[in-house]
Amino acid sequence: MAKLIDGKAYAEGLRARIAAAVAGLKKEHGLTPGLAVVLVGEDPASKVYVANKAKQTVEVGMNSWEHKLPAETAEADLLALVGRLNNDPVVHGILVQMPLPKHIDSAKVLNAINPDKDVDGFHVVNVGRLSTGQEALVACTPTGCVMLAKDVLGKLDGLNAVVIGRSNIVGKPVAQLLLAENCTVTIAHSKSKDLPGIVRQADLVIAAVGRPEMVKGDWIKPGATVIDVGINRIARDGKNILVGDCDFASCEKVAGAITPVPGGVGPMTIACLLYNTVRAACAIHKVKTPAM
Ligand code: NAD
Repeated sequence: MAKLIDGKAYAEGLRARIAAAVAGLKKEHGLTPGLAVVLVGEDPASKVYVANKAKQTVEVGMNSWEHKLPAETAEADLLALVGRLNNDPVVHGILVQMPLPKHIDSAKVLNAINPDKDVDGFHVVNVGRLSTGQEALVACTPTGCVMLAKDVLGKLDGLNAVVIGRSNIVGKPVAQLLLAENCTVTIAHSKSKDLPGIVRQADLVIAAVGRPEMVKGDWIKPGATVIDVGINRIARDGKNILVGDCDFASCEKVAGAITPVPGGVGPMTIACLLYNTVRAACAIHKVKTPAM
């Protein structure tokens, strides 16, 4: 049976290290990292995410601001708010919660954020910095996946990594991070041929597809590490439950280590957002980033 990769526990530990780093920055440099989160509209899931982000930001000792705008907010007004946050010296991280209402051009808004405050890592400048091996703010969920993989495997050098999914928010950035860790990286997607055969080559599988329980145990090389990013709500036995993109029951029998859903990658995302905010604050103030 595979070792269970406890993302919830890892994220708790990371948040404790972030809190210690924040306390040190306050004491030694009078610097309190601050995160501004912008929510446009009333999407219930987004409201929960934003509330959790704000709560955890405060818990690690950072400043937190929530900007809640009505769904009918004009694009120009949102861009003006982003501009004010870009120029506000106490704000080190800016996150505009996706999805935005349809009348707003999301790419335009994301690219209006100062790249040095882009703690979501979605700005083209950060994507470019990542893919050219420069210091970058990197998307949070991919950062969390690689932290968990390194925690269980140590060095990733030379491993065959297969990433299933090529989205801008997970698949592509996680592939870039794994390349930077010296993995041999294959990116599979909806048009890939013989997906089970591709996955069977992998020492490390990252599944970011959004299809419940798609990856089966007989696709997994015995002993491989499986990081399941998927969060899918399904009905089973009359209950609504969350499942990943991997069929946990069959994969855990073959894998060496596997993340559960929930409690695997999910809790890492906000912890990595806080991590990025500390890094951004230190870079802006030209202070050495503490170990976290
Ligand atoms: P997306 O829909 O943007 O991308 C899915 C990718 O999967 C696409 O690149 C597509 O080519 C690929 N794909 C679709 N069907 C496929 C198939 N049959 N075979 C192979 N590849 C296929 O999704 P996303 O935003 O990357 O999210 C993926 C999953 O991760 C979702 O379940 C999402 O909820 C979850 N997610 C979790 C977190 C978190 O844990 N915090 C964050 C982001 C996304």
